[in-house]
Amino acid sequence: MTVEYERRGPVAVVTMNRPEYRNAQNSAMTYALDAAFARAVDDPEVKVIVLAGAGKHFSAGHDIGTPERDVDVSFDRKAVLWWDHVGAEGGDQRFARESEVYLGMCRRWREIPKPTIASVQGACIAGALMLAWVCDMIVASDDAFFADPVVRMGIPGVEYFAHPWVLGPRAAKEVLFTGERFTAQQAKEWGMLNRVVPRADLETETMALAEKIAVMPRMGLALAKKAVNQAEDLMGLRSGMDSVFGLHHFAHAHNAEVSGGDSLGGQDARSMRDANRTS
Ligand code: ZN
Repeated sequence: MTVEYERRGPVAVVTMNRPEYRNAQNSAMTYALDAAFARAVDDPEVKVIVLAGAGKHFSAGHDIGTPERDVDVSFDRKAVLWWDHVGAEGGDQRFARESEVYLGMCRRWREIPKPTIASVQGACIAGALMLAWVCDMIVASDDAFFADPVVRMGIPGVEYFAHPWVLGPRAAKEVLFTGERFTAQQAKEWGMLNRVVPRADLETETMALAEKIAVMPRMGLALAKKAVNQAEDLMGLRSGMDSVFGLHHFAHAHNAEVSGGDSLGGQDARSMRDANRTS
């Protein structure tokens, strides 16, 4: 299974399960995550949802190069009311697909009416930041590292552009301009993480936090979550993200226009990894 689902008392644990590809997110995974979250929302016994990654790493981001990359596959769309990207051309194809599986899915998950906690170890890169950020809280192990290196592709950050809100403007610029990895401790100092714990304690610390929350009433939790999310949106999160999604797609289109249709600016999973190693 691409995504594992397990209920432990009042806590649903949703685990990305492509450890051989550092849990790179193909569309099969995003739709499996969506199904797992829907299941947790519908189960009245579930009070809190934990999102985890199997293996050494939380996630290396979007799948831009595994054998199961599935950008040309149709799925039963859930997140936005738009036509299928399959068979569309150019910007039409990219906008339709990314509106659904990246920005739309992430927004849908941010609005899950139950508290969510990301449990992060190892790599949490680019598209993986999106998954961690849509969760209400993030517990990271001390070996976790983060980066959004997509400026190297000429693109101003990943599709779910929460950077200025979760990092603050200056840290957001440093992260984007350098593309460098930052540590869990650094992320904690910037206010992006709730807890940094030893790697061996990650699961128990995440579950302890989830169980503490799980004794609160469901409705109170849902309304408190909505209240904070609404406040974040009043601080410009949602409309800011919409405006940056336009810049993001301008960048993809520019790349495609100047380099024979390649919207990633001549980069692939290997070149991005190599650049990240030496930085
Ligand atoms: Zn994109």
